[in-house]
Amino acid sequence: MAILEIYTYPDPILIHKAEPVKNFDRNLRKLLDDMAETMYSAPGVGLAAPQVGVPLQAIVVDASPRDEHAQLMKVVNPVITFHEGQSVGEEGCLSVPGFTADVVRAARICVEGFDEYGKPVTIDTDTFLATVLQHEIDHLDGVLFIEHIGRLRRDMIKRKLKKRAFQETKKDKPQKQSVLVY
Ligand SMILES: [Zn+2]
Repeated sequence: MAILEIYTYPDPILIHKAEPVKNFDRNLRKLLDDMAETMYSAPGVGLAAPQVGVPLQAIVVDASPRDEHAQLMKVVNPVITFHEGQSVGEEGCLSVPGFTADVVRAARICVEGFDEYGKPVTIDTDTFLATVLQHEIDHLDGVLFIEHIGRLRRDMIKRKLKKRAFQETKKDKPQKQSVLVY
């Protein structure tokens, strides 16, 4: 297993729709294992493949309290087939580092998808897991949680993250130039 790089906004992979998985092979299982390890090391409660630079419809979630690792789920090509009610919770995202906001989600959902071997799975939940699944499935549609919040705050967060990314690029430059000089 390996810990993968987590892509952050404004990387374009985070705002594009992911492709359905067609091959339930060893590569997919390795990707899901690596995603789980990356999620736990972050630490996070969920991770979607586009967040590690892979534009496929695959997610890992573990909404159990930290360090239990007991409720790891790997869901491929997930679709929300039913939702009802509303619940509001504070969300953060490994791809939007340093910011949290209250997001309104469905209180109860039913998700249909496949496990890493292509076996159909159904998850019916009205717990915190419902929020995590909606957040991760949004990633597969190229939607970040900040798209669900007020425009002023969203624009402020985007502006700050873009500025941060720009400053990081600038920081890299002198090092590259010094290599060229020598
Ligand atoms: Zn996220």
